[in-house]
Amino acid sequence: MAIDDSHSPSFFAPWPDRLRHSAIILLAAGLALCALVLLADLSPARAAAVFICIAAAALVPWRLHNAVSSREDVRAVTPVEAAAVSAVVAGMPDPAILLDRAGRVIHLNAAAAQLAPALRKNELAQFALRSPEIITALREAIATSEPRRAIYLDQGPVDRWMELIITPVPVPTLFGGTEKCMLLTFHDQTPLRRVEEMRADFVANASHELRTPLAALSGFIDTLQGPAKEDAKARERFLSIMHTQATRMARLIDDLLSLSRVELSAHVRPDACVDIVPIIRQVADGLEPLARERQVEIKIDLPAAPVTIAGDREELLRLFENLIENALKYGASGGRVIVSLSQAGEGEVRVMVRDFGPGIAPEHLPRLTERFYRVDVGDSRAQGGTGLGLSLVKHILNRHRGRLLIESVPRNGATFTACFPQTKTPVAH
Ligand code: ADP
Repeated sequence: MAIDDSHSPSFFAPWPDRLRHSAIILLAAGLALCALVLLADLSPARAAAVFICIAAAALVPWRLHNAVSSREDVRAVTPVEAAAVSAVVAGMPDPAILLDRAGRVIHLNAAAAQLAPALRKNELAQFALRSPEIITALREAIATSEPRRAIYLDQGPVDRWMELIITPVPVPTLFGGTEKCMLLTFHDQTPLRRVEEMRADFVANASHELRTPLAALSGFIDTLQGPAKEDAKARERFLSIMHTQATRMARLIDDLLSLSRVELSAHVRPDACVDIVPIIRQVADGLEPLARERQVEIKIDLPAAPVTIAGDREELLRLFENLIENALKYGASGGRVIVSLSQAGEGEVRVMVRDFGPGIAPEHLPRLTERFYRVDVGDSRAQGGTGLGLSLVKHILNRHRGRLLIESVPRNGATFTACFPQTKTPVAH
């Protein structure tokens, strides 16, 4: 099924045209010859021979003309074996296909051949691009000579959302004319869709996380105003729970704001030189009360000399706080946490936080830094977690051009290592 077969060559099609255009000549010649046969002394056989000669002469120019135009037609189908058009299509970074107005492939680039391996030059593109959206858009673009767009799902080993843009383009032919062609370009929309999905997920997760403590708070307010109005003991208990829930909300909002701040400045690398040894010590000291509460010993193994990196002090405090606090909360059963610093040969500073708790099953490791991802939601909430801590750690490290390594042996603890590129410049005070 061709999209437009008005241009398909046919042997019979030109004859009615030729006869119509020669009709006046043939009629006049016929009448003149009849008159000569009747009035003059011309034999009918001679008159017939003369008529045949005239008829042939009237039709011959049409044959020649048609021969020229059909030759042009053939070239117009592949109007431009001209290197320029072919080079432009080949040089486009996205998949691109140039079709004639019947929908046959004139040129295609390597990316298009990869996207639709069934595409062949001089064959109808629709057989290779089987998506109904594409075929409809192509028909419309050809019928209206106006641009069309179509979005479709390219199902492969990895699904991709593609946007197709069909643009009618007048392409110069070898004979100085132009041929109306269709330029198809494909644009991969998958990253945009992913970002959009992540944004929607994030809003849904954040609202859900906030709604839970909010529901608890308003429930307790109702109870305190109603049934427990006069009950001093219940009031004390409820107020304490309300305090925990309010703290949880405040912490969540705090984490969300920190995350958005770090994301906003993700492309700006911190330029101040900071010594991270005192920063780690300050965090560990600050978490001593939590360690005592959980009966965990924090063992610090830091060098005496300063270790400088290009960093943001506040963000580094936040980063180490999250890692050490997680080790104390989730690895408490191990009874000890080791915080150590090492300088790897190729100019990298590594801060390692190791605990000896239950560890993390391997299937969770790749997802730990996703926002709101928790191995055990109930456990995380009970510990006052928001599910944003490791996501914040990853973003801070990205901004510092560093990386996070996570290793864990189930039942034998977990090790989180923050790696930073080292600077040689002196410390800024
Ligand atoms: P949360 O606010 O829940 O602590 P994080 O992003 O800091 O969020 O951590 C995500 C999840 O990773 C935690 O809920 C916990 O399940 C797991 N996790 C983090 N650190 C450890 C650790 N040291 N040992 C075991 N599990 C951990």
